[in-house]
Amino acid sequence: MTTSNIELASDLRKAIRGVVKADEPMSKHTTFKIGGPADVFVDPADADDLAAVVSWANRHDVPWLAFGAGANMLVSDRGIRGILIKMGRPFQRIELEGERLYVGSGANLDKVVSVTTEAGLAGLEYAAAIPGTVGGAIVMNAGTYRGQIGDVIETVSVVTSEGERRDLSPEDSQFRYRWSVFQVDRSRIIVSAIMRLRPGDRDELVRTAEGIRRKRATNLPSGPSAGCVFKNPEGQSAGQLIDQAGLKGTRVGDAVVADKHGNFIVNEGKATASDVKALADLVRQAIREKFGVELEFEVRIVGDW
Ligand SMILES: Cc1cc2nc3c(=O)[nH]c(=O)nc-3n(C[C@H](O)[C@H](O)[C@H](O)COP(=O)(O)OP(=O)(O)OC[C@H]3O[C@@H](n4cnc5c(N)ncnc54)[C@H](O)[C@@H]3O)c2cc1C
Repeated sequence: MTTSNIELASDLRKAIRGVVKADEPMSKHTTFKIGGPADVFVDPADADDLAAVVSWANRHDVPWLAFGAGANMLVSDRGIRGILIKMGRPFQRIELEGERLYVGSGANLDKVVSVTTEAGLAGLEYAAAIPGTVGGAIVMNAGTYRGQIGDVIETVSVVTSEGERRDLSPEDSQFRYRWSVFQVDRSRIIVSAIMRLRPGDRDELVRTAEGIRRKRATNLPSGPSAGCVFKNPEGQSAGQLIDQAGLKGTRVGDAVVADKHGNFIVNEGKATASDVKALADLVRQAIREKFGVELEFEVRIVGDW
């Protein structure tokens, strides 16, 4: 424990209502089960409390970063400096009004798929079993070849670095393949969104989502991972390139290129962030040399490297 982090946490605790912890191991909060400590970890009580956290951080010149379920993050072994803000339980509202979905950024995406398909609304069924929160999915423009979340977004509500609420359009959000403006503009925390869905056949939608869940459970590696490490290069599959290069099973420490899916790196036990990064860099170099293709990270590499 660092005294200054304990003091920082204690000062912040006096200014907000949410839960504040010092030196929180990020391995507890990522699907990789990897990551060193966040100096200060905050679970804000609600959107006003979130604004208070951000205002406090700005007044004290402390950096901050918001996250959801940690399903797409590789956090450094040295951890994250400043304040890490968990968009959790207070941001999990899921409400339908006709064809519109009002959803909190902390809501679990697969749960949202269940609620909408069971209500006979189409537009999110392809996202069944994609791990993580709605906020993370918006930042990543998460999806599959069947669709991506940006396609159904009407409004994204954020808290800005000045602690103000603002509504953004899909154009403001600049959705592209596994990309949105929120990846480069970290000054906005997604609090909620409105999505516009379409009426569909309830039974067929539920069946489709269930089929996808079953297929993913069989076809995707089951160990701790962050899903696809790399984006697919234009017109190609990163997983296939990695497979063709004979890289499946390659390992650094306990980090392994999965047998079931070449674009997954799995933590087989005690892998460190450095192991995963070294393995990913090795894969990138091999693909560059063999195919002349530059693989781009899909996984967000965060923290103090
Ligand atoms: C087994 C497995 C399978 C996967 N399959 C897929 C797939 O098929 N398709 C796909 O697209 N992805 C897939 N992923 C990746 C992951 O599920 C998605 O990227 C998901 O949308 C991440 O959501 P999250 O809440 O965990 O985001 P996090 O990992 O918590 O965060 C991701 C990024 O968004 C930022 N962020 C998160 N929430 C907020 C917020 N509220 N405001 C501002 N910034 C925020 C974080 O700082 C970080 O930069 C898979 C992952 C796993 C582990």
